[in-house]
Amino acid sequence: MSQFKYFNGPREDMSDLLDGVQTCSICNIENGTCFQLDYAITNLFSEEDKEGKIGCVNCLTSGEFEFWHDTEFGMLDEQGLTKVYNHNMNNPPRIQEQVLSEMRRTPQIVTWQQELWLTHCDDFMVYLGTWDPKDFYLNSPNGNGKQLFLEMTDEYQNLWDDSLGDNKQQLQEWYATYYVFKCSHCGKLRGNWDCD
Ligand SMILES: [Zn+2]
Ligand SMILES: [Zn+2]
Repeated sequence: MSQFKYFNGPREDMSDLLDGVQTCSICNIENGTCFQLDYAITNLFSEEDKEGKIGCVNCLTSGEFEFWHDTEFGMLDEQGLTKVYNHNMNNPPRIQEQVLSEMRRTPQIVTWQQELWLTHCDDFMVYLGTWDPKDFYLNSPNGNGKQLFLEMTDEYQNLWDDSLGDNKQQLQEWYATYYVFKCSHCGKLRGNWDCD
């Protein structure tokens, strides 16, 4: 079970996670899950003092520091949601402050470019991890991996066929990284690519 409502992926997918047991710069207690605070939101340290500081998972979940997130509802930071990119909604649903805090107290995802946290049923979805083509076949109720991929994917649907070589039926691998999210309300799976 994950400590986080919205992050249920592997540990190594957590951005800014430090190796091994570290001493938290905030509570001074040793913890095996610590993050570097260089890009975190916190008013405990000034911008220049944040560099090299460390925050433990307990201080994250209690809100001593938080992380910004780019989400479909908008760019989320301590000010709330703002439309910055085209993929941010023009008229996002009203989200309770408690939900926004919970999301900010969630690690960012390791990505090549920038995460885009998907949403469903007026809530942030739960991050599950990255999938390769085989995971679509395994998770499809009828073994039709491509169909599941198409149901989950809004953009760059062509990448499935583009990755499939000539005369091949089953897709083995692709060059991209695909991030998978699940709705905690209805179970819907969605995903996106690390490309723009
Ligand atoms: Zn701490
Ligand atoms: Zn849903």
